[in-house]
Amino acid sequence: MVDNSVLVNDDQPFAGLNISETWNNLHHVSERTICPQCNKSRKYFCYTCYLPVAEIKEYVPNIKLPLKVDIIKHSREIDGKSTAVHAAVICPEDVKVYTYPSIPTYDCSGNTVLVYPSASAMTLEELFETQGINNGQKQEISRVIFIDSTWNQSSGMYKDPRLFKLPCIVLKSRITQFWRHQNGVPRWHLSTIEAIHQFFKEYEAVISKESEKLEKDSTSYCENYDNLLFFFRFMYDKIHILYDHDSLKSYKRPLK
Ligand SMILES: [Zn+2]
Repeated sequence: MVDNSVLVNDDQPFAGLNISETWNNLHHVSERTICPQCNKSRKYFCYTCYLPVAEIKEYVPNIKLPLKVDIIKHSREIDGKSTAVHAAVICPEDVKVYTYPSIPTYDCSGNTVLVYPSASAMTLEELFETQGINNGQKQEISRVIFIDSTWNQSSGMYKDPRLFKLPCIVLKSRITQFWRHQNGVPRWHLSTIEAIHQFFKEYEAVISKESEKLEKDSTSYCENYDNLLFFFRFMYDKIHILYDHDSLKSYKRPLK
């Protein structure tokens, strides 16, 4: 499913994205402060309570998502390093993070989908087509699940019968700008926040196409999903101030 026509734009990886410029302000946060909920010392946000620290609270984007998002985290993923937390901080009403194997039992009738490139995975477009959105009996998706783990851990988690039965969605090709290196994993494997961002961009495109067909107003879906990358954009910048891009092993990974 790899589309080799996707260009690697490492010079301006965020070109064309509408990310709130206030991410720059995060550079001015110098001190750690106390999380109002758990009293632990945190720099930008609390990765256990999913709350931004008081100093940045005013300008951290708050996004309302059209679907509920569950993120299933591998128990060995380090909370402070996972980008899944970004989604929970930015979309407090719609994102829940679970630590595997403590996960809900999902309804397998079609309203919950798992983002995972299984053998039978469909793109969102294909899913909407097979569901026959025009016949009025469409089963609408209401929840989307992402796995937050290394590539190897995710294939193990996918074998869990609670996840295995779910319809799978494969995202369109895009290369990661994540700075954490994973041995043997190509740059097509996105970090969790990049995958969530990509999913909602694709979802928005499919919905607006369907709305056009039905001549329906799609403005209720207008949300700036690029802001999902608010913390990612900042941390990418921070890493690139500390290290030269070409010296970072992560970006030297094969593209396929
Ligand atoms: Zn906390």
